[in-house]
Amino acid sequence: MSKVRTRFAPSPTGYMHIGNLRTALYEYLIAKHDNGDFILRIEDTDQGRKVEGATDMIYQVMRQTGLSYDEGPDIPGNVGPYVQSERLSIYKEYADKLVELGGAHYCFCDEEMIEDAKQENENEELGYIDPCKNISLEEARQRIANGEKYVVRQTIPDTGITSFEDEVYGHIEVENAGLSEGVLLKSDGYPTYNFANIVDDHLMKITHVVRGNEYLSSTPKYNLIYEAFGWDVPTYIHCPPVMKDEKHKLSKRNGDASYQDLIEKGFLNEAILNYIALLGWSPEGEKELFTLDELIQEFDVKRISKSGAIFDINKLKWMNSQYLKKKSTEELVQLCQPFLEKAYDLSDKDQKWIENLIVVHKDHISYGEEIIEQVQLFFEDEVHPNEEAQEFMKDETIPNTLKVFKSHLEQLSDDEFTEQNIFACIKATQKEAKVRGKMLYMPLRIATTGIMHGPDLASSIMLLGKEKVLSRL
Ligand code: GLU
Repeated sequence: MSKVRTRFAPSPTGYMHIGNLRTALYEYLIAKHDNGDFILRIEDTDQGRKVEGATDMIYQVMRQTGLSYDEGPDIPGNVGPYVQSERLSIYKEYADKLVELGGAHYCFCDEEMIEDAKQENENEELGYIDPCKNISLEEARQRIANGEKYVVRQTIPDTGITSFEDEVYGHIEVENAGLSEGVLLKSDGYPTYNFANIVDDHLMKITHVVRGNEYLSSTPKYNLIYEAFGWDVPTYIHCPPVMKDEKHKLSKRNGDASYQDLIEKGFLNEAILNYIALLGWSPEGEKELFTLDELIQEFDVKRISKSGAIFDINKLKWMNSQYLKKKSTEELVQLCQPFLEKAYDLSDKDQKWIENLIVVHKDHISYGEEIIEQVQLFFEDEVHPNEEAQEFMKDETIPNTLKVFKSHLEQLSDDEFTEQNIFACIKATQKEAKVRGKMLYMPLRIATTGIMHGPDLASSIMLLGKEKVLSRL
């Protein structure tokens, strides 16, 4: 069997859609599972949709994800160039060849005329019966030599059936008569996706094609082209869409998060990859947390589902929090501090204080940006207890509890205002005020922080600082 080769073929749109990244991940896993090659190809033939800097963004995201490719625009291989706009002469050569083989024809029709014909027909796609199919090759070549504008259009047999096997969707069969004869090479010399993907996948020796299931219906047309050239058809793995909810696809254009948006919010790359691996694929067994190496071991296309997978941000948050727990203090600070710097004035805080603040809240955040709201109370002058907390504070034992606690704290010098000493003050209050458990901790917590649940109380009080705590009490 030939070496497994997969390719990720993004179009430079300016962002990395979650669905696209999942395709990249699956391609990577399939290749690496079999010690194969993973290739990056830039599909930039739609000049109208070109976005400045978008290709660099793809390289950057690929680096950031760790899905390192073996060949690509910036990693030389034997089958380049790996950018489609640099392969125009190749497409031209193969388009001419396909015409000779009978799989396509030169078409001189006027675009507008074609559109009108389609509009008039019930089945828009099939509305156009191209008269140029009847022009002899000789005449067509003469007209091209005379400088007439033309496109290369696929020629599809009127009869017969095209069938193929998809690893996810199984056996697929369509009647050729139902397939439209689309443009393969445009008059400006640029190929359409419908042609470039075939030529490139063949010349780049791609063995497994992974892409969204929106391409499933065009695949029979691609197979007719493979057949005309006498080339082997790759293994097809069409993936179900990534959904926002039951009805809608996840879409960056409609404001849904892209990979970069998630990274900017302080989600971890390894958690995102782990989560998107499970969008449409399920491992055997119950395990959900996988490193990239484990995914390489476990991944099996046979377990990709046919139905759309809903992108559940809460599940991703949970997964991210699992990965956060394993982070060192240094890594955690690196992730969270930039968010604090953006949201608050830290000029009078020392680094140790900032680090403590982050560490104390480690178990209370699921992604980096969440630190901002979690620590808000440390930057405010007053507490803002909610109704439930206010109700709680009406208990008659509370004023005394607070008074006793305050008197103990007052005895601590600034240097003595440490976690241990504060804890000792809490314990002393328990004895002296004769309150314990919830009736001890809750009033102290609400009075000093304004919230009913939070991280370790002594640590929070220490971080708030003596002055603020005494004034709040
Ligand atoms: N450029 C295509 C896209 O971004 C790639 C599809 C494929 O993987 O063949 O949708």
